[in-house]
Amino acid sequence: MKKQNKNDNAANRKSYVGHVFNIGEKREKEAVLNSLNPEWARLHREGYIHIHDLDAYGLTYNCLTFDILSAFPYKNFDGLDPEEKIVGVFDFIKEMLAKIGNEQSGGMSFANFDKDFAEIFAKLDVKVLENHAIFKACIRSLILWCNNMHTRMGQTSYYVTFCIGLGTTNSARFLAHTLIDCFYNAGDLVYKPNIVFKVHKGINRFPEDPNFDLLEEALLCTAKKMIPTYLLCDCEADRNTDPEKLSIMGCRTRVVDDLFGEAGAIGRSNIDNISVNLPRLALESSAELVDGSFKEKLDLFKKKWLEVAKTTKDILLDRYEKTCNADIELFPTIRQYKLTREDINEVGLRGTFRHGTLSIGFIGLSEAMEVLSGKKYWNDDSVYNEALNFVKYMRNYLNELRDEYHLNFSLLATSGEYISGRFVEIDKKLFDSPVMKKDYYTNSFHVDVDSRLPAYKKLELEGPFHILSNGGCISYIELAEAPFGNAEGLDELVEVAINSGVHYLGFNFPKDVCKQCGAAGTFDVCPECGSKEITRIRRVSGYLEIQDYFTKGKMHESKNRKTN
Ligand SMILES: [Zn+2]
Repeated sequence: MKKQNKNDNAANRKSYVGHVFNIGEKREKEAVLNSLNPEWARLHREGYIHIHDLDAYGLTYNCLTFDILSAFPYKNFDGLDPEEKIVGVFDFIKEMLAKIGNEQSGGMSFANFDKDFAEIFAKLDVKVLENHAIFKACIRSLILWCNNMHTRMGQTSYYVTFCIGLGTTNSARFLAHTLIDCFYNAGDLVYKPNIVFKVHKGINRFPEDPNFDLLEEALLCTAKKMIPTYLLCDCEADRNTDPEKLSIMGCRTRVVDDLFGEAGAIGRSNIDNISVNLPRLALESSAELVDGSFKEKLDLFKKKWLEVAKTTKDILLDRYEKTCNADIELFPTIRQYKLTREDINEVGLRGTFRHGTLSIGFIGLSEAMEVLSGKKYWNDDSVYNEALNFVKYMRNYLNELRDEYHLNFSLLATSGEYISGRFVEIDKKLFDSPVMKKDYYTNSFHVDVDSRLPAYKKLELEGPFHILSNGGCISYIELAEAPFGNAEGLDELVEVAINSGVHYLGFNFPKDVCKQCGAAGTFDVCPECGSKEITRIRRVSGYLEIQDYFTKGKMHESKNRKTN
């Protein structure tokens, strides 16, 4: 779910190819909109919904967790010595990422980077521990590749996520440790790839677990660099699924239940997703029922949502159909390496994409509830319950769609990149409301970023929404500054999160790096050299980015963040 427009994508740099791409993309988006049912295009243009990655409509899917083990090309490495095999495998990873990054519109993920590559190297007869120096060099190089290569669409980096934490063999543990260690030591301006640490009891969650030391290392790294984030395999929504089958995209996409096979993310995609502007529907409901009660406004709001959701479903189905009927030649890399759940060469695009999810997302639950009730939902028990009931209502509808169309429909708590500002801009022309003062809408079901609620309270309030948002969601804890060295404090919050139902957790803090001397911390003036030339690294929609490249809405949100 990544835009490439100059002002749309938080990760863009300038280049000639990027310039040409942007022009083409803009035209393509317009052409797609003009080709759609006029009512669908109207909803998008008028800001009721946002059809993500319009330029990819009917051409490709959104994101993919690789099935790397089923058809790994072991033969390519025949006859090589161990050093050549190690370098060769890491070259293969980069090549694959670069190719697939241009065959799909969103993120790429490894569900068990440590465990799977330990297995691959064992099969290649490479002793990981005996070659630790070369492994370290290769992993460092892979990290820098993910961070520095802005060659996707001629201007942006590759959205890559490495999930780790569950492998308990010496080789797997070494790979996980080295990934964290290299990332920790890679310098303050290295903020990619996304690393997700999978927390699971019996493996790494408690001090007696064999990989507890890796969790502590991961938390120390987070305390310095905001990465890793944490996939909480023991949470209510995920605890009945084999943790090794769980995976996540940095942007939060969650793919678990499958109508066509066992639960799990491996080899599966989000095909497409469309986000609904909840504050718009609330503003309309409130305007139509000026003297109405909260309950009356809420009923109208639900009615309006259902109407929009029905049309949204039609768009998702149309796009799905078109994607299934796309040219299979558009996917040479997943065909070559058989990276999907079923072999795409045997089952075709429909047989492949039926495992994917079709998601309806939402943004601005907080503002919507405030418009309808006059209160912050996280400050009032009865409004909170109605907010939760509304999300249940949305989820029930997605379940109905799943049953009716026999496709993997899911409810996505949208991250809000780009659209949080776009929706407000349009709504400002139609309504006058204090909820638009800050120029962005709050991410999905999140408590406002300036709530100043204690961290544990925020997790307790947001947890129940995780259980309902089966298409993906994340909770963030906002910290005033890097909690250097405080793994214990973060560990306690991981426990609170698990027990509150949170399935994916991140820690944010303002990270500033001096452009003159490289000093890092949280400051407007460098404490070392006095320079005011500062690079600001912030999390945007799941991935860390440099703030100069933020979109307008995200810039406003980032400035408003207050600590929990
Ligand atoms: Zn400085």
